[in-house]
Amino acid sequence: MLGLMQDRPLMISDLIEFAAIHHAKEEIVSRTVEGPIHRYTFKDCAARSRQLAKVLIKLGVGQGDRVATLAWNGYRHMELYYGISGMGAICHTINPRLFPEQIAYIVNHAEDKYLFTDLTFVPLLEKIAGQIQKLKGIIIMTDDAHMPKANLPNMFCYETLMAGVDDDYQWPLFDERTACMLCYTSGTTGNPKGVLFSHRSTVLHSFAVCTKDGVGMCNEDTVLPVVPMFHVNAWGTPYAAAMCGAKMVMPGAKMDGASIYELMETEQVTVSLGVPTVWMMLLAYMKENNKKFSSMKRTIIGGAAAPKSMIETFEKEFKVSVIHAWGMTEMSPIGTACNMKKTHKSISAVDKLRLQLKQGRAVYGVDMKIVDGEGQDLPWDGKAFGNLLVRGPWITSGYFKGEGGQILTKDGWFDTGDVATIDPDGYMQITDRSKDVIKSGGEWISSIDVENSAVGCPGIAEAAVIAVPHPKWDERPLLIAVKKKDAQVTKEDLLNHLKKTLAKWQLPDDVVFVNELPHTATGKLLKTQLRSQYKNYKLPTV
Ligand code: AMP
Repeated sequence: MLGLMQDRPLMISDLIEFAAIHHAKEEIVSRTVEGPIHRYTFKDCAARSRQLAKVLIKLGVGQGDRVATLAWNGYRHMELYYGISGMGAICHTINPRLFPEQIAYIVNHAEDKYLFTDLTFVPLLEKIAGQIQKLKGIIIMTDDAHMPKANLPNMFCYETLMAGVDDDYQWPLFDERTACMLCYTSGTTGNPKGVLFSHRSTVLHSFAVCTKDGVGMCNEDTVLPVVPMFHVNAWGTPYAAAMCGAKMVMPGAKMDGASIYELMETEQVTVSLGVPTVWMMLLAYMKENNKKFSSMKRTIIGGAAAPKSMIETFEKEFKVSVIHAWGMTEMSPIGTACNMKKTHKSISAVDKLRLQLKQGRAVYGVDMKIVDGEGQDLPWDGKAFGNLLVRGPWITSGYFKGEGGQILTKDGWFDTGDVATIDPDGYMQITDRSKDVIKSGGEWISSIDVENSAVGCPGIAEAAVIAVPHPKWDERPLLIAVKKKDAQVTKEDLLNHLKKTLAKWQLPDDVVFVNELPHTATGKLLKTQLRSQYKNYKLPTV
């Protein structure tokens, strides 16, 4: 017997219309590419999203068509999120930090009909225009006064198109499983693959972001997503903020420490989300300039492991609570968040910090388990580590156009490619990406553990550990590190520091100092490049 509840589909358009009614005056503040700070309300955003839907229909965009964005975090990008998905098309966010050829590949693979771009990326598009000829047009996200004299075919001005329509538009209702957003994974190996989110998965994921045991986003918050809207939908912030009516602050193109800090202070931001590399820049700026926060309460660190020293600095020096979180594009992205349980109320500061280094416990909606090489379940004892598998309503079932083939196990689990432990309380800790662990004489060395310890050494700014072939042990770790400005730290200092927390066999066989480390388009260490660069490196232990 079916229940007798109404079967209203979960629609993205309902999120923005809800915000327009219940959080009408709540602000969305953006640092624009053109320069000035722009501010308007959720009510304005809803009206302009409806207007945009009419623009798209006029341009000939239909349900299921892909419409690309190449844009920073800003109010027009919000309108695209809601306007495109709301009218039944698919908003395809593209990471502008990818190589131009990869961007061309993605646009063609997705068969994007139109592309909306911030002014910043016009030169990039001019470079690849010859390779993306199937696009029907490129819309520059600016007003008439700022339109560039670009060498691009079928170029339109966003504000001119918007001025040609009103906001009298009724969002259509359709199957909630309809695709709404498309995001290609950064693709450190092979070509990028598209993850296709649905209205249903996105709305359900927003509920998780708003739960106290998730990100805890709520009406009291002023949220600044430093994580870009082209990196898994800014981790769901644009939707969750509409759901709860949090004020949104969008940093635009300026992600440096000084600009982020200024925006956090002037807009009295309470919560912010980003990858460790951006926090490194912010904390370095604040320390160098003796700055303090006046409103920030918590920060969500994810995308890569949060180093101990970073958690300590945020909490002790700047009085900002850290929520370490884990997820991936294939998971919309949130899987776990490291929130304490009531049983942790009385634990010591040292134990709390130890716990915060873990990526946390699953949010409701995410099932997870760890398995060995044969697919057998491993115990949740905090020690056994194995491949981390997940399943749930906002986790992918396959890549766009079937790339990569059948990706789920027979019983419906998705292999994350991460290696992890899970403790008896359900707290998961990533020990590595499966391809990054160093397999030394039958033992596995976690590159993340060594890196975390290395960045805690005074004078070290960033560190990467990779496996280098070794005739006796198969692989041994090589540490590649960047010193802080003017630091005098030596190889011996660094190894002595590592000895405090690592066993002898886990210590790197050598240390190389470099001026900078390569990063992926989403700000993570690009270990594939390091591995190929150092594949013939002669370790002193050979
Ligand atoms: P992406 O899809 O680009 O966001 O990358 C997802 C991958 O980033 C995951 O599979 C992990 O390997 C890594 N990752 C995300 N969050 C964390 C975290 N908190 N700690 C360690 N690795 C993480």
